[in-house]
Amino acid sequence: MCRTYRESLSQVELYSGYINKLIDELAALPGIGNKSAQRLAFYIIGMSQARVKHLADTIVNAKEHVTYCKVCQNLTDEEVCPICGNPRRDHKTIMVVENSRDLAAYEKTGKYKGVYHVLHGAISPMLGIGPGDIKLKELIARLSKEEVSEVIIATNSSLEGETTAMYISKLIKPAGIKVTRIASGVPVGGDLEYIDEVTLLRALEGRTEL
Ligand code: ZN
Repeated sequence: MCRTYRESLSQVELYSGYINKLIDELAALPGIGNKSAQRLAFYIIGMSQARVKHLADTIVNAKEHVTYCKVCQNLTDEEVCPICGNPRRDHKTIMVVENSRDLAAYEKTGKYKGVYHVLHGAISPMLGIGPGDIKLKELIARLSKEEVSEVIIATNSSLEGETTAMYISKLIKPAGIKVTRIASGVPVGGDLEYIDEVTLLRALEGRTEL
């Protein structure tokens, strides 16, 4: 009887207002459910004041100082990211990815020597995300200024990724730029981030011209 009563208590009744607020903030983050949020909240409360302050400052500093690279739109602390600023990279080959995590996945292979362009999303008519909502005009502006020999479209093989690839291809091919698409060795709906390096390299090497 007592157990049933305890289980019926809501989070609001169980915890203080401050803890509830912290749980709600954490639960609003992607991939964190209510149970994980509770665990994290209690862990944070158990941390020393100095560590909590350090964590909070780190979050605020990251938000204040991280910006988009003015060339490729990747997240960086500087005006131009280390990849765009590296003269040993092949600046005539641009790989277009959906987000910074996909870029990191390709960088981890250590085999790609070109540069990137990060879209920060993909076109999704269903979610109301149009070409104007991702960093596409930045890519077009870049292609009109730089001498580029190939654009490799490495968006995910999801419906959104394919839609985005087709859109970009139609947009830039008339300018006479070679446009390729990574091979479909990447499983449909697969998130590039979770695919192993061998598969990523195979997809890159097996790319076909659009
Ligand atoms: Zn950059």
